[in-house]
Amino acid sequence: MTAKPAAVCAACNANLYEGRSAIYDSLFEVYACGSACLSEWYAANEPEYKRRWTEAVDL
Ligand SMILES: [Zn+2]
Repeated sequence: MTAKPAAVCAACNANLYEGRSAIYDSLFEVYACGSACLSEWYAANEPEYKRRWTEAVDL
Protein backbone atom coordinates (compact mmCIF):
# COMPACT_ATOMS: atom_id res chain seq x y z
CA MET A 1 0.00 0.00 0.00
CA THR A 2 1.43 3.35 -0.98
CA ALA A 3 0.66 6.09 1.49
CA LYS A 4 -0.27 9.43 0.04
CA PRO A 5 1.48 12.39 1.67
CA ALA A 6 -1.02 14.34 3.75
CA ALA A 7 1.18 17.41 3.96
CA VAL A 8 4.66 18.68 3.18
CA CYS A 9 7.12 20.04 5.73
CA ALA A 10 7.44 23.79 5.29
CA ALA A 11 11.15 23.75 6.17
CA CYS A 12 12.65 20.69 4.48
CA ASN A 13 9.86 19.72 2.03
CA ALA A 14 9.72 16.18 3.40
CA ASN A 15 6.45 14.39 2.74
CA LEU A 16 4.39 13.98 5.90
CA TYR A 17 2.13 10.95 5.79
CA GLU A 18 -1.20 10.27 7.39
CA GLY A 19 -0.87 8.45 10.68
CA ARG A 20 2.56 9.94 11.42
CA SER A 21 3.02 12.75 13.87
CA ALA A 22 3.93 16.23 12.71
CA ILE A 23 3.62 19.76 13.97
CA TYR A 24 0.96 22.08 12.60
CA ASP A 25 1.18 25.84 12.93
CA SER A 26 -2.40 27.05 13.04
CA LEU A 27 -1.42 30.70 12.60
CA PHE A 28 0.40 30.26 9.29
CA GLU A 29 -1.26 26.96 8.43
CA VAL A 30 2.00 25.16 7.71
CA TYR A 31 3.20 21.70 8.69
CA ALA A 32 6.64 20.68 9.92
CA CYS A 33 8.29 17.31 10.68
CA GLY A 34 9.06 18.39 14.21
CA SER A 35 10.09 21.30 16.37
CA ALA A 36 13.53 21.55 14.73
CA CYS A 37 11.98 22.09 11.30
CA LEU A 38 9.40 24.46 12.72
CA SER A 39 12.13 26.58 14.33
CA GLU A 40 13.98 26.62 11.02
CA TRP A 41 10.85 27.74 9.23
CA TYR A 42 10.21 30.47 11.76
CA ALA A 43 13.78 31.72 11.48
CA ALA A 44 13.40 31.99 7.71
CA ASN A 45 9.99 33.63 7.95
CA GLU A 46 10.49 35.98 10.85
CA PRO A 47 10.20 39.15 8.71
CA GLU A 48 6.91 37.93 7.28
CA TYR A 49 5.70 36.99 10.75
CA LYS A 50 6.54 40.44 12.07
CA ARG A 51 4.92 42.15 9.13
CA ARG A 52 1.71 40.25 9.58
CA TRP A 53 1.37 39.96 13.31
CA THR A 54 3.24 42.77 15.00
CA GLU A 55 3.36 46.53 14.66
CA ALA A 56 4.87 49.51 16.42
CA VAL A 57 2.39 51.29 18.67
CA ASP A 58 2.27 54.37 20.84
CA LEU A 59 1.30 53.52 24.38
ZN1 LIG B 1 11.10 18.93 7.96
